[in-house]
Amino acid sequence: MSFKVDTGLVSSGAIQSIDSYQLVIAGGGPAALSAAIYAARYGIKHVVLESWKPGGQAALTAEIENYPGFSSIAGSDLTSAMKKQATEAGALFRMETVESTTEENGKILVKTDSSEYTADFLIIATGAAPATLGVPGEERYYGRGVSFCATCDAPFFKNKKAIVVGGGDSAVKEALHLTHVVSELGLVHRRDKLRAEPYLARKLVEHDKVTTYWNSHLAEVVGDDQGVTGVILDTPEGRKHIDTDGVFLYVGTVPATEPFVSLVELDKNSAVLTRNIVGTSNPRVFAAGDVTNNGFRQVVTAVSEGARASAAVFELLEKEE
Ligand code: NAP
Repeated sequence: MSFKVDTGLVSSGAIQSIDSYQLVIAGGGPAALSAAIYAARYGIKHVVLESWKPGGQAALTAEIENYPGFSSIAGSDLTSAMKKQATEAGALFRMETVESTTEENGKILVKTDSSEYTADFLIIATGAAPATLGVPGEERYYGRGVSFCATCDAPFFKNKKAIVVGGGDSAVKEALHLTHVVSELGLVHRRDKLRAEPYLARKLVEHDKVTTYWNSHLAEVVGDDQGVTGVILDTPEGRKHIDTDGVFLYVGTVPATEPFVSLVELDKNSAVLTRNIVGTSNPRVFAAGDVTNNGFRQVVTAVSEGARASAAVFELLEKEE
């Protein structure tokens, strides 16, 4: 699929051999996988650079119940099926993290942790990482009771107590997943209304293992040498210490746009500012999925955007021929 060309793009002055493609797709979640399926089927010479988290955030979702065609499917099963389909269509995957990108002489130069590529076009589909709160104890106890992934870590909390912070779809879905294993679950939310899908929100709030802490903030995670032992909450009734073994944080996400800052315009939340859904401020760069400012962050919209982005690249390649 790839061919080597000599370019003069390396700043050291030495001519260096760099893998060259028509399209680089950065990311490994549903948006990137869908872009890969379409790019492969369009016959676009491309490579998918996925980091160490194949499947993206969707793969870390225990159960997806709103992706058409499946009344319920594990996020990891859905993304594995997408990757299999992309591979069978001819997509080329490399497990590399994109570190920086620049544009030189009408080509996009992509540097990863182990290689360099040039491409005519780039699709940014790097998704978003979990946001942190920056409260005392959060970083210290990360991996020792503090987690951003109930799907991954729930088994460690069998018959133990856990707290979930946040009120969005991620918080509620992952909290529901935890109710299957923990003995008690606290839900801490800064308002008195959940942002999550009402059906799931009601299911959680009415669950007999769940205690809700409305209008409350996580002030501190406390623990000992073994890990987390509790949290301190700021509640309307004042500060409260709650015993817990685990703290799961779902307070939003931060778009993974750092490597692309010199290529495209971002919005105030660091998401890629799109136009016509998948276009960006750079005509050689498209964006799809949670990395964008498109708003409705669902697997179904991510795959749609990935497909549109590859279709847009195909159209431009046809015009350039
Ligand atoms: P989100 O929808 O942005 O929700 C973040 C939650 O964290 C909100 O409830 C927010 O409170 C709270 N929060 C934010 N900053 C906070 C702070 N500093 N302190 C305390 N609480 C804070 O994020 P998400 O749940 O990760 O979801 C991201 C996107 O993915 C959403 O569009 C969501 O619909 C989508 N998603 C979909 C599914 C699905 O299967 N359909 C599953 C997961 C995620 P406020 O409510 O007060 O703002």
